[in-house]
Order: sequence, then structure tokens, then C-alpha cells
Amino acid sequence: MAEPVYRRVVIKISGEYLAGSRGAGIDQATVDRIASDLIAAQKLGGEIAVVVGGGNMVRGVEVSSRGVSRTTGDTMGMLATVMNCLALESAIERHGAPARTLSAFVMPEICELFTRGAAHNYLAQGRIVLLGGGTGNPFFTTDTTAVLRAAEIDAHAVLKATNVDGVYSADPKKDPAAKRFERLTHSQAIEGGYKVMDATAFALARETSLPIIVFSISEPGSIGAILRGTGRGTIVAG
Ligand code: UDP
Repeated sequence: MAEPVYRRVVIKISGEYLAGSRGAGIDQATVDRIASDLIAAQKLGGEIAVVVGGGNMVRGVEVSSRGVSRTTGDTMGMLATVMNCLALESAIERHGAPARTLSAFVMPEICELFTRGAAHNYLAQGRIVLLGGGTGNPFFTTDTTAVLRAAEIDAHAVLKATNVDGVYSADPKKDPAAKRFERLTHSQAIEGGYKVMDATAFALARETSLPIIVFSISEPGSIGAILRGTGRGTIVAG
């Protein structure tokens, strides 16, 4: 079998996606489908780490508008990402592959602390590694976390899973004239203000020379296709 184009990757999956059509919380069928896709992609020979968001439960900005302080709201959001990791870890293991959650926070009864060494070891052992707790700091997002962790663990690319097959000039679901980009530089992605990822994430990827591939996770098998280099997505790279 041909070697994957990107051997070690960090895949960013939003919490919102895990909610499926429910809109909030965790949709088990969606989590199971993603778990199978991750396992299939890993069988191609890839080393897969996943950063999961928390927007299906808590976003710091939203709860802070209701009276909770922003830092407490962000902490709640980061804890939500750990719950999502545990849901995905459990689904991956139920589907027959080893997985391990590593958290930015010390919570020894629940999962191990993220360290570069632990992530390297588990990836080398063939586990799918779930990275929870965001960066561990308020005022950041899990998009930025994905780029940060990718740089820390020497990943070859960040795969940003979305509902659409790349970066568009406008929301393609609302604007039929929206143009899809095949390739962008990090600077073009920042200057264009495209909503697909926050500017901090793009800036860190530029600084660390990490390519970001924006693709749709809605079609089963799309993660594997991106790893093989045959998938459809926008490549954001220097
Ligand atoms: N968050 C944070 N620091 C981080 C990552 C996340 O404070 O490093 C908080 C923040 O409140 C954010 C929430 O966790 O709104 C959930 O993450 P995110 O919004 O990125 O999740 P997604 O939209 O991808 O589901």
C-alpha cells in the first residue's frame, strides 16, 4: 500500500459536529461514524491525533454573556472538550482500535496529562490520541490548539474538518456565487478573514510552517482520502 502523503496529522473536529442533527450534546451515531473513519484512516499507516472542540456543550464567550466570567466560561468550554474526547475514545475502542485521551489539565482519575513525550509514545504504539482541554488557557480556541499541538508533536499537517469541502470566499450554503479556493497561503487566509479558522490558528501555522487542509468530514472515508492525498479540500500552506 502507498505511504500516506501526511503520515502524522492532527485532525480538528468541532464539538458542534459531534452533536449531529441534535444541535447540542453528543449524537452517538455521529461519534460512531467518526470513530470508524478515524480507524480506517489510521489503517493506511497514518499516525492520528485528534483535537476535539466543545461547542456542542459550552463556548466561553456565550456563557460569559450570561454573567459567568470569561475565564470561568472558557474553563467550562475546555472541560467540555475533555468529555467529547472521552466519548470519542470510548467509540474508537468499541470499534476495536486502541485510543488514549491526553488532557491539558491534570486530572489523573480521568486521563493522562498531555506531554509531547506521551503523545509521541502513544502515536508510535499505534493508538489514536485524543487531545482534550484545549491549550489549557482561556481566550484561545481549539483551532489554535490543533495547530499548537501539531507543532509540538512534529505533525506533518493539520486537518480541519468542516461541513464543506474547503475554504470559500463566502458561506456557500448562503451565497451561490461563493468561490472555492484550491490553495491559499496562510497570509491570504488571514487577510481574507475567512471564517473557517481563527486568525491566531492561521498565524501560528504560518510561524511553524504547518500546512492546514480544510475538508468536509461529512462524506465517510474523507479523512483517509486526505491522508492519501486524493481527497478534496483547500490546502493552506506557505
Ligand atoms: N477554549 C479555551 N481555550 C482553549 C480552547 C478552548 O478557553 O485553548 C474554550 C473556549 O471557551 C471555547 C470552548 O473552549 O469556546 C470550546 O472550544 P471551541 O469553541 O474551539 O470548540 P468548537 O467550536 O470547535 O466546538
